Amino acid sequence: MTPVRTPEFVLFDLDETLYPSSNGLMNLIRDRIVEYMMVRLGWSRAEAEERRVEYVREYGVTLDGLRRLHGVDVGDYMEFVHAVPHSEYIRPNPELDRMLARLRPPKAIFTNASQSHARRVLSALGVSISHFECIFDFEAAGCCPKPDPEAYRRILRRLGASGDQCMLVEDNPRNLRTAKSVFGMSTVLVRKAGQTAGSQAGIGRAAVDRADLAIRADLAIRADLAIQADLAIQADLVIDDILRLEQVLAEATRQI
Ligand SMILES: [Mg+2]
Repeated sequence: MTPVRTPEFVLFDLDETLYPSSNGLMNLIRDRIVEYMMVRLGWSRAEAEERRVEYVREYGVTLDGLRRLHGVDVGDYMEFVHAVPHSEYIRPNPELDRMLARLRPPKAIFTNASQSHARRVLSALGVSISHFECIFDFEAAGCCPKPDPEAYRRILRRLGASGDQCMLVEDNPRNLRTAKSVFGMSTVLVRKAGQTAGSQAGIGRAAVDRADLAIRADLAIRADLAIQADLAIQADLVIDDILRLEQVLAEATRQI
């Protein structure tokens, strides 16, 4: 475990950080994103799927590619893709609410999604919004999604904090990389259950689909090694469940 300084601010990603990826909510939202492109832009399902992967790889989130290249309206997109029954997917987590109440540093939500989605997620979790100084969303970030450094600059300005005073808790290693390498934040990776390579190692799905089996196996092995190395570099602490944060943080700060 890497020793870390006690943070003065803790920034929490929202999706698949405060709740487990296994609940399927983000899969549903990804389906809604593809549906949005089919309905609003008239693309086939295959084309929409391919562009979703391409834009996530290129811009960090699908919306940023759609906004820059196709003039998609942010509000319309957010409303459409988050029109899902949150409380059918997210179980209340009273222990998380209690843990956040005990964690002393000021806290903020730092998400590439929208304010209203964040509020619905917190409500379904039974987590009080009052734990957080702010919910910093895609629009607050000036439509510059993580891992664009501009998003981090804006939230630091909003909190009146410097990067080295902050800790970012996230499920996405790419977002942790910017936090650590550009801003000197300490970083906590919330690892997904069964997290394997490929999904986050920068190898696009389309490219993998085109590869034959031998190449695919080779890619998987190399991506596995790459992601393991990457995680070790980007994350000071790694947890499998957000509820482990308090204890792991206490142990890591004691070592300083
Ligand atoms: Mg996330």
